[in-house]
Amino acid sequence: MEKLLVLTHVDGSGAALSKASLESVAAGVEMAAALGAPLVIGILGAQPASAAKELAGTGARILAVSDDAFAQPRYASDAAALEALVRAAEATIVFAPASSRFARVMPGVAYRLGGFVDTHITSVAKAETLEATRWYYRQRVEAVVKRESRPWFLLLEAGTHAPWIATGSASEVESISVTLPNLRTTVSGIKAPRQDEQTIRPEAKILFVAGAGWTKKQADGAVHAAEAEQLILGFLRAADASLGSSKSLVDQSGENQAVLKFMTHMNQIGQTGATPRHPKGLSTCCHGEEPHVVGWRFINERRAISIDPNCGWARGKADVLYVADAFKVIAKVNALLNEKK
Ligand SMILES: Cc1cc2nc3c(=O)[nH]c(=O)nc-3n(C[C@H](O)[C@H](O)[C@H](O)COP(=O)(O)OP(=O)(O)OC[C@H]3O[C@@H](n4cnc5c(N)ncnc54)[C@H](O)[C@@H]3O)c2cc1C
Repeated sequence: MEKLLVLTHVDGSGAALSKASLESVAAGVEMAAALGAPLVIGILGAQPASAAKELAGTGARILAVSDDAFAQPRYASDAAALEALVRAAEATIVFAPASSRFARVMPGVAYRLGGFVDTHITSVAKAETLEATRWYYRQRVEAVVKRESRPWFLLLEAGTHAPWIATGSASEVESISVTLPNLRTTVSGIKAPRQDEQTIRPEAKILFVAGAGWTKKQADGAVHAAEAEQLILGFLRAADASLGSSKSLVDQSGENQAVLKFMTHMNQIGQTGATPRHPKGLSTCCHGEEPHVVGWRFINERRAISIDPNCGWARGKADVLYVADAFKVIAKVNALLNEKK
């Protein structure tokens, strides 16, 4: 019989589980019921007790490791802790969120246990046995994977399941001891841009896409790159949006053209870019060509602003197309959003 373990870790606060962890928990609860398998949940954190309260109602056996060494991600300590949790649970199937913390350590943990790991899993289902789905080749090929190797580790993509919501009273937490190896790395802190400087925000409710039109000559024959920067940044701040781009816009920096300074290739959406997941998307000054729009496949509601009524968005690619000047529309929208705030 299968034994299902869901591995989780705390978020930046140290007191709560990460949202992606709670998504894996929800997937685990559902799959354990479908497989008729016992469910175990493992927690990695310095003080997992308060995080464990979020697992109320899962009916799972809860295991946790606790040590100051687990307050922050570090390969050696995380690998030792996760190995101990999998061994204690005697797991044959392991679900875990594909967070940066787990993605870098899980292949090593699978190797230590003689198991097999699959990454970028977007859904799991029970047929005769467990089946996992993932995309290959820039989201053009979808594969359903089955494996006989055990333990089988599956890193689940964030945003593919609704997070678990605690109900009822919490279960007891069993503490698992870990023999830590000699730790050569000391985590002295995290250096990261301020949140409002980060333009890629996977948790945002809305994706704002800027196209090359923002840096093209406008009706007055002039380029308005500085104004474009202010309008785009203004929208990102006012709507807590994530910033995407067309390829043409991010490629301009190599061609000595007017550029938006905060835009990098990391923002590119499309066939040769990213395929983010957000409930809504707003495209601006972008033509909506197929190699770009293919990156919108996981955006549920799509709107676009273009001055060209024959652009790609008009041909069935957007739910709503506003044929208008994005400079004027976004200035007005920002003013309304700021009034509301
Ligand atoms: C193999 C391959 C892979 C590719 N991969 C990608 C990819 O991953 N992602 C990607 O984005 N592209 C990709 N492309 C390129 C893609 O085909 C397009 O060339 C690109 O998306 C065009 O970018 P754009 O729409 O921003 O620019 P443009 O085509 O220049 O369109 C600019 C638009 O802005 C509008 N506009 C101008 N001013 C305003 C204004 N004031 N208000 C409103 N609208 C305005 C114009 O009417 C125009 O429609 C790929 C191409 C190939 C061949």
